[in-house]
Amino acid sequence: RAKELGRDGIALFTSEMTAAVRKKLSRTDELRQAVLRDEFVLHYQPQVDVQTGRIIAAEALVRWQRPGEGLVYPGDFIALAEETGLIMPIGQWVLKTACRQARAWQDQGLRPIRISVNVSARQFQEERLIETVADALHEAGLDPSWLELEITESLIMKDLSGSIARMHELQKLGVKLAVDDFGTGYSSLSALKRFPLSRLKVDRSFIADIPHDADDMAITSAIISLAQKMGLEVVAEGVETEEQARFLIESGCNQIQGYLYSRPVEEERFSRLLEGNGCDHR
Ligand code: C2E
Ligand code: MG
Ligand code: MG
Ligand code: MG
Repeated sequence: RAKELGRDGIALFTSEMTAAVRKKLSRTDELRQAVLRDEFVLHYQPQVDVQTGRIIAAEALVRWQRPGEGLVYPGDFIALAEETGLIMPIGQWVLKTACRQARAWQDQGLRPIRISVNVSARQFQEERLIETVADALHEAGLDPSWLELEITESLIMKDLSGSIARMHELQKLGVKLAVDDFGTGYSSLSALKRFPLSRLKVDRSFIADIPHDADDMAITSAIISLAQKMGLEVVAEGVETEEQARFLIESGCNQIQGYLYSRPVEEERFSRLLEGNGCDHR
């Protein structure tokens, strides 16, 4: 009897596996089609200087407009794209589109802002990254100093010396570098000083429970003062409430990004946000 159950157990497990594998294969296929059919779109989320009330940057966030399914968020396809290598063409498209958009806003006479683009592990390690970035800038006619690449702390720590070398190559190209999700990737603080960085992004998980979690508040204000003392800019992500913003400002953080100011929005809405943001309003 036990033997039978075991066999059934295995049979069930196997058919579940097959279903999972099949589902993954078809999802991969759809993602490959999506690349060919240009089914991606970028949304932009403002980063605001709290001292002046001005938008200083936009983070480009990719979405997949899947026919019949609506918008698919990166949490549901970036990992698969990484695994299958499809992140290369997708990432290239994101870079090109983001650079072109930044230049288009400048051409519309809007105050120039920096554009931030997320780069995943496989893209960052890819041989041709420097060329890909240089091409995107060149094609768009965008000065490199307006582009910032966001890389996560855990990506950097996977291959510390390789990452540092890579960061120096990008710095030479003239682009800015930010560490995304800072505080979650266990980088030693001594490693931090070897990174040619311009900004730290305090991870959203530390911001979420402010003002209720005293530990998160301690960590957040420590990261902010560390960044400042090292001459880095610091932006807090995931700021949703006035109370969180107030705490951050009191802690010396002068850049915030989050639903409090705006969700990520389509290009047109972002243009309107920028237009209405021409002068100081604080
Ligand atoms: P991330 O780079 O840390 O981006 C911030 C995420 O937090 C975004 O989710 C954004 O919509 C969300 N967010 C912003 N403000 C708030 C807030 O106030 N509250 C809450 N709850 N969430 C907020 P999204 O767009 O779903 O992106 C998730 C992640 O996917 C990104 O995290 C990034 O790691 C990755 N990703 C997005 N676009 C790209 C891309 O073009 N290339 C690559 N390689 N990764 C991307
Ligand atoms: Mg990011
Ligand atoms: Mg982040
Ligand atoms: Mg994140």
